[in-house]
Amino acid sequence: MLKGKAAIVTGSTSGIGLGIARSLARAGADVMLNGFGDASEIEAIRREIETGFGVRTFHSSADMSKPEQIEAMIQQTAEGLGSVDILVNNAGIQHTASVVDFPPAKWEQVIAINLSAVFYGTHYALPLMQAKDWGRIVNIASAHGLVASANKSAYVAAKHGVVGLTKVVALECAEGPITCNAICPGWVLTPLVQKQIDALAAREGLSIPEAEVKLLEEKQPTKRFTTPEQLGELTVFLCSDAAANITGASLPVDGGWTAR
Ligand code: NAD
Repeated sequence: MLKGKAAIVTGSTSGIGLGIARSLARAGADVMLNGFGDASEIEAIRREIETGFGVRTFHSSADMSKPEQIEAMIQQTAEGLGSVDILVNNAGIQHTASVVDFPPAKWEQVIAINLSAVFYGTHYALPLMQAKDWGRIVNIASAHGLVASANKSAYVAAKHGVVGLTKVVALECAEGPITCNAICPGWVLTPLVQKQIDALAAREGLSIPEAEVKLLEEKQPTKRFTTPEQLGELTVFLCSDAAANITGASLPVDGGWTAR
């Protein structure tokens, strides 16, 4: 379905981004992977996707907090894969503390990676999509793009910002064949959430399985984690012709979190 399309998935060496990269490759897209990690592990992931799905893959170690590195990654994709048809803005980090205790440097870092990188990626990739008269931008926001939780000021502000930016880009592209949507996951069991489970277990003297249940019960009525594969398949759908008139949407995949 996506054969011949070139996709960038930021933050795809782990968790949700990796699930999305695999789904896009399964659908036939060539993929520029991005993110940090052990070089040999990243190379193994790259080869596994390339040989498993018969697509071309590259990896960029561009730091999403650095606009010039984002621009370079997009240029590198255009040179290596021919264009940028699909941009999945997924890289993100978390830091929890009250507003009073929140370190200003952490605020700047969360806003840079979780919000400004979405602007810069879109800013540099959109002209390439416009030149080819087709494009899909999928922003991985969060249930925290729709509602808030205490102690997540930078994350919630950034994710609400992503939802707003998604709407603006959708409106600016509305009359053409480029769509821009946000996906708003609830809890997904990735390293980003594992840290929060470990902290909850330590704080309340719980086992890891008990902390998982407590975390889910507090927010997610289904009491089941969303999986990276489910988010990958939704991303593929948003890239399909069937989704050509879905734009500016923020789609919760949150087990009912934002239904109450
Ligand atoms: P993760 O920690 O498993 O993966 C994050 C990825 O981003 C990794 O590949 C990491 O190397 C990369 N990354 C981090 N900082 C980077 C930087 N400066 N430059 C380039 N890459 C960088 O996290 P995840 O849970 O898969 O999160 C992915 C996205 O999904 C994030 O935007 C997160 O906010 C969002 N999200 C996660 C959940 C969840 O429950 N896990 C829920 C809602 C939204």
